[in-house]
Amino acid sequence: MQLKIALAGNPNAGKTTLFNQLTGARQHVGNYPGITVDHKEGCLLHKNKKITITDLPGTYSMTAYSAEELVARDYLVNEKPDVVIDIVDSSNLERNLYLTIQFLELGVPLVIALNMIDVAKDRGIEIKVEKLSQLLGVPVIPIIARSGFGEKDLLEAAIDTASTSNNGNTTLDISYGKDLDSALPELISLISENNFMTDTYPARYTAIKYLENDEQILKKGRQNNTEIASRLEEIVDKLADHTRKTLDVYPEAIIADQRYGYIKSIIRQGVETHRFDTDRLYTSDKIDKVLTNRLVGPIIMLLIIFGLYQFTFSWSELPITWLESFFGWLGGIVENTLPDGLLKSMIISGVIDGVGGILGFVPLIMFMFFGIAILEDSGYLARVAFMMDRVFRMFGLHGSSVMPFIVSGGIAGGCAVPGVMATRTLRSPKERMATLLTVPFMNCGAKVPVLALLIGAFFAESKALYMFLFTMLAWVVALLAAKLLRTTVLRGDPTPFVMELPPYRFPTIRGLLIHTWERTYQYIKKAGTVILGISILLWALMTFPGLDNEQKGFFKQQRQETISSFSQETVKELDLKSKPSSEEAIALAKKLNTIDNAETEAALRYSIAGRVGRSMESITRFAGFDWRTNIALIGGFAAKEVIVSTLGTAYSMGEVNTEEPESLGERLKNDSNWNRVVAVSALVFIMFYAPCFITVVCIAKESSWKWAFFSIGFNTFFAFLAAVAIYQIGMFFQLG
Ligand code: GDP
Ligand code: MG
Repeated sequence: MQLKIALAGNPNAGKTTLFNQLTGARQHVGNYPGITVDHKEGCLLHKNKKITITDLPGTYSMTAYSAEELVARDYLVNEKPDVVIDIVDSSNLERNLYLTIQFLELGVPLVIALNMIDVAKDRGIEIKVEKLSQLLGVPVIPIIARSGFGEKDLLEAAIDTASTSNNGNTTLDISYGKDLDSALPELISLISENNFMTDTYPARYTAIKYLENDEQILKKGRQNNTEIASRLEEIVDKLADHTRKTLDVYPEAIIADQRYGYIKSIIRQGVETHRFDTDRLYTSDKIDKVLTNRLVGPIIMLLIIFGLYQFTFSWSELPITWLESFFGWLGGIVENTLPDGLLKSMIISGVIDGVGGILGFVPLIMFMFFGIAILEDSGYLARVAFMMDRVFRMFGLHGSSVMPFIVSGGIAGGCAVPGVMATRTLRSPKERMATLLTVPFMNCGAKVPVLALLIGAFFAESKALYMFLFTMLAWVVALLAAKLLRTTVLRGDPTPFVMELPPYRFPTIRGLLIHTWERTYQYIKKAGTVILGISILLWALMTFPGLDNEQKGFFKQQRQETISSFSQETVKELDLKSKPSSEEAIALAKKLNTIDNAETEAALRYSIAGRVGRSMESITRFAGFDWRTNIALIGGFAAKEVIVSTLGTAYSMGEVNTEEPESLGERLKNDSNWNRVVAVSALVFIMFYAPCFITVVCIAKESSWKWAFFSIGFNTFFAFLAAVAIYQIGMFFQLG
């Protein structure tokens, strides 16, 4: 007796390799699809049985879309091999099973050769062969076609299947959903009652092919029985109309979906396990149903971000006050040990009040980075990008723009420099430019201490809320600016985007700590190097040239006049350097202090920076910025943290020798030039004006100096307009 075996499977599943192994032939083995277009035959003898083996062309499906698919299908239905060996690439099980279940629907006697188990094993994939066999109802034999492993078992199983299944094969009946399932019985009974091509195909198979709009079957059907064919087509057309209206899809799409769903459910029943834990994939799918849900997802996202700020501010509050008192204590020591003079002034005003102000926010930065590390390490940040993609499209940005935004401080505490560089992933030059120009609007790590300082000083009752509002504002402005650019200078079509969502994973404590420390260390390092340098430079600009002798003499004279108006004993009491106790002495100390303050302020006004700051006041007063703030804002162009250090220096030079060292926040709060409206106006200006110097250089490198200057000019102009509007409206309604 002669046995006919057909080898079928996806391209590159290893059919030809197995064919050559079994027949000893030297067929060409290629690793690209479609190499075997026509079928090849070979023979072998196994236990005195003559076996003919046919190597069919590789296909992914069994529809009439390509020549290969038709050759394979026609061979199966016309030649009726005794058994079909379906070669499945086990490292790609899910996709390969798509063809397998179509064989099962066709009802051919089937044996599955689970090929390339060596590759699967290397990739950490383990397949429960028995479980798969049980669920599909056919033998499954693991093999390695290239080495010949499992070849004998496969042949035995094939011969066994061929001899037991004498044409009475049961077909696999998958559910195709409510609409199709309710139409199928009518189609099937019409087909079987009229013996419509039932010699060649099982009735249900024909019905499904009609639903799939399979051209070859439709043509054959019309030749076979015009009347039945047109009745079938009529039913199908009506159904297609219905699914299109209700679900916006054709039945063939529903069929493909259901088949994949069927395969997924098979694999989920523990058929495939990964050393790299694919259970996580499914768990992630489930979590994502909620977390990336169109309605609930964004709400949860906002809550998470708000929660992050709440956590950051509440946990860092205490350590921040510790650091503040530490720097206050340090200043006190320097005050009492160093002799009066430039060095002392530089160390107290330039270093301690400048850099110390930035270092004081280390706990806040640390907790924020810790929270962000959780979002990042768990995989949630990728979901944020995924959800934002929908929003981004509306504003002419690309899904790949989201990551640059987040890197630049979209949630808080990033940096625009890597953000600008991250835009390299964008292929469309216009989308890239629009992203590049708007990422500096995010609240980078350098703006965080500024935000924390001003929010802490003026909105202490709901810090997290204000942080949240300012974050939202940054996004709104960035997106509107992008839209503006994309409808004017950067007009163009959007490009498509597919986002991969890696599975969620539990962050490890170690990983979180490392991430937190790395970024916190960067912050500290920058404060101790670049910022320290700029801080000292600005201190110098705020100190020199200093008052001339005539001016100094004026204050000296005032001091002497004051002293001479008090009694000798009182003056002596002050000279003892211990705390004055008598009312008289306290009054004298206060008066002298006022004169000292007036002198230092005069010196600051007279300094280089002071003059620049004052000369700008005529414009900046429309936004509520006094000359000291102006100095800080100019310094901020070097690096945004410098705003905090410069304010620290400027306000410490204005007030010396107060009894209790005040924090910068308190100083601002008590200053007559500052109030809530000024704080908001200043924050908005700081958030949106020129990107810092390093970012500008980076923009120039990534695009051109023309765009770099554009970003300085455009951003500063826009930020100033916004600040003026806020200040004017705010003061008009007396919100300060
Ligand atoms: P066909 O398109 O189904 O005919 O696949 P081929 O027989 O041309 O094989 C495709 C590629 O897979 C070739 O490079 C084979 O050498 C390789 N291959 C086939 N079977 C195995 C196997 O079991 N293990 C490994 N590692 N590679 C295999
Ligand atoms: Mg081949």
